[in-house]
Parts: sequence; C-alpha cells; structure tokens
Amino acid sequence: MRQIQQWRANSSCYNESHEQWAETVQRFVEQEITPNIECWERAGEIPRDLHLKAAEIGILGLGFPEVYGGVEEGIDRFHGMVTGQELANAGAGGLLAGLMVHAVGLTPILTLGSDEMKQRIAPPVLRGEKLISLAVTETSGGSDVSQLRTRGECQGDHYVINGSKTFITGGMRADYLTVAVRTAGDGPQGISLFLIETDREGLSRTRLEKMGWHCSDTANLYFDDVKIPVENRIGPDGGAFLGMMENFNGERLGIAATATAFSFVCLDEALTWARQRETFGKLLIKRQVIQHKFAEMLRKIHATSAWVERAAMTMDQGIGNGGELALLKVQATRTLEFCAREACQVLGGSSFMRGGKVERIYREVRANAISGGSEEVMLDFAARSLGLSR
Ligand SMILES: Cc1cc2nc3c(=O)[nH]c(=O)nc-3n(C[C@H](O)[C@H](O)[C@H](O)COP(=O)(O)OP(=O)(O)OC[C@H]3O[C@@H](n4cnc5c(N)ncnc54)[C@H](O)[C@@H]3O)c2cc1C
Repeated sequence: MRQIQQWRANSSCYNESHEQWAETVQRFVEQEITPNIECWERAGEIPRDLHLKAAEIGILGLGFPEVYGGVEEGIDRFHGMVTGQELANAGAGGLLAGLMVHAVGLTPILTLGSDEMKQRIAPPVLRGEKLISLAVTETSGGSDVSQLRTRGECQGDHYVINGSKTFITGGMRADYLTVAVRTAGDGPQGISLFLIETDREGLSRTRLEKMGWHCSDTANLYFDDVKIPVENRIGPDGGAFLGMMENFNGERLGIAATATAFSFVCLDEALTWARQRETFGKLLIKRQVIQHKFAEMLRKIHATSAWVERAAMTMDQGIGNGGELALLKVQATRTLEFCAREACQVLGGSSFMRGGKVERIYREVRANAISGGSEEVMLDFAARSLGLSR
C-alpha cells in the first residue's frame, strides 16, 4: 500500500466515496498517463485529447457547478485532494499544472463573470474541449501584482489592450485567457479582469523553456492593440483584486496539497528502492542513517498533511485565513524540497538519470515554491496578516 493510501485510511477526512474516486483516478493515471508521461515531457506539452478523457471521467468538472457541466452532488473538497494525490502519483507536476490549469483560469469567471459569459465559457472548458489559462504575471513585477502595466483603454463598446504577460501556464495551448489588465490609475484599484480569446487579432505568444514541468507549456503573451468587447470584462471595472485574492487562496491550498502528495511519492519511491538495494552486504533499509531519512520525511509529511486537512476544513466552513494558507504553502513546499533531496540521496546515481519520478519532482521543487506566491512573499504576507509585524 502506498504511503498516501495509508494516510487516507487513517484519516477521518476520507470515506468510502473518496476511496472509490481515488480508484477511478488511479486507473486513469495507470492507463492514460504513466505509459506516456516521459514522451509528453520531451514533447513539451500534454495532448489535447487528455483533457477530453479527463473530462469524461469527471476530473475536470469535479466541484464545479452542475449547471455548467460540473459535478457537485456528494462532492467535497477532499475529492479534489484525492484527484491531486492520484495524479501526483505519475510523478510529474507539469501534468497537474497543464491539465488542471482551468481551476485558476475559470474560477474568476464563475465568481465575477456575467451569466452569459459563464454559459459561453464554462461548459466547453469543463468538457475539455476548450482550454483556459490565467495571465497575471508581468516582467514589470511578478510578486507585486499591483504594479502590472498591461493597459486596457475603453473606447465605447470595446477595450483596446496593450502589454505583455510572462510565465503563463498553458499559455501556448489556451483558447481563452483570464487576464489582469490596468484600466485606471496606479495600484490595485486600477486593475480589471478580462476574458480574451486567443484567436483575437494582435495577440501573439512564444514558448518558454523551463527547468521542470516540461509537459506543461508555458508562454510569454503579447497584446498589441487587441480589441475586445466590453462584455468580455469579468466583473466590475477595477474589481480584479477581489477575484484574484479569492483565487490565490484556493490556488495556495491546492499547491500545498499537491506538494504534500509529491512528498509522499518521493518517500514511496525511495522506500521501494531501499528495500531492494544491497550495499556492503546489507539492504539499504537496514542502515540506521537511511531509516532516519524516512522517519524525518514521514514526520514532516504527516505534520503537513494534517495542516492541509485543517486548512481544507476551515476553508469549507468559510473561516479560511489567507495568512495561514500562506504559511501552509511554505511548509508544504519546504517539506517537498526536503523529501525530494532525501529521496535522491537514497536512490543514488539513478536519481540523476532522466525519466524517473524523483528526478522530475526534484527539478520541479522551485515551481511549487515560487509560483502562486513565493516563499519570501508568503512569509511576509503571513507576518502582516497574522499581526506578527505589529
Ligand atoms: C512554473 C511557473 C508557472 C507559473 N504560472 C503562472 C501562471 O499561469 N499565471 C501567472 O500569472 N503567473 C504564473 N507564474 C508566475 C509566478 O506567479 C511568479 O513567478 C511569482 O509570483 C513570482 O514573481 P517573479 O517570478 O516575478 O519574482 P519577483 O517578484 O521578481 O521576486 C524575485 C524574488 O524576490 C523575492 N521578493 C519579492 N518581493 C519581496 C519582498 N517584498 N520581500 C522579500 N522578498 C521578496 C521573491 O520571493 C523572489 O524570491 C508562474 C511561475 C512559474 C515559475
């Protein structure tokens, strides 16, 4: 039994329904992902039909409103956790980033968009037919979102957008973009969100090469006099921060949960190896120095898992705290950093060879620790919002 399965079996947060869902996603991973993942890593993207297949078994629509083709009945936040845990078992963060990017791209539309926009965009996205990404980051200031410079000028019944975005997950393949644009003066109040179709004239994109997450396409986006109708504004003029902050909390919990799932994968991979690898006449697992590596990994993973569960429950009750989620994200990505390192040490030279789960996860640590709010910015934000800086 994998470590994550043992954790779920001993946790009161998971029940029979979660385990049934875990089996469904596990089969999907075994049949559709594991045999192909290294090929997609080398190709630099996942195929579009994977979105269709994932939608067919309910992965894309899980937790989204049924009226748009989602699955809500009998679903709670822990079904979403299970999806991440089982997809993580493929040992490729790029897969989660590329396949599940609609979770951050679509959510602002469902929170702030008009009924017409929700009807138009959500169903094809949840069916896996159309892809959507979230474009906030700019070279002018990544962490400091309030400094973004992409501008939208209102000209009667349309806006004209000029500027650029960088590091956008799914940006090369996206059909739709949820884009943060400055429509008024300086600071956060001047930023609005827009839905921009990627076939609009004046929009171009270039692919970025990365250290990890190879199967997730990442793009620079350029807007050169891109004309979009006023109806494509998501929510009120200057209302972007509202939608983005809510999105950030969900995204940070999601990153913390999947980083923990990847930590479990590192532990499992290293444990399997240590139980069969013999050096100097003994199995690795019989050495105290190796056993302590596993004990330390488990200590950190269990503490983080318990915190993830607590955060999920408080968020469900509507009492989630942004500062605590920021700290949890740091906790989870540092746990992942530790586990990826220790798993590499146990696996030895093979951990450095291309194609294994741990090799990929090790290269992906920084993507978790930087995207969705970097460690430094998370600690700074937590110190302020939890009253520590007073
Ligand atoms: C793999 C990947 C995928 C991404 N996907 C997307 C996406 O889909 N959409 C999107 O909009 N963005 C995306 N991003 C961008 C991501 O959100 C930013 O990289 C992140 O917000 C940090 O911004 P930056 O890289 O410009 O770093 P900067 O903001 O320039 O920060 C550089 C360093 O300085 C530190 N720092 C910054 N400010 C402070 C401070 N006040 N005090 C102390 N230290 C500070 C940071 O922690 C960091 O270590 C992605 C990034 C990566 C790596």
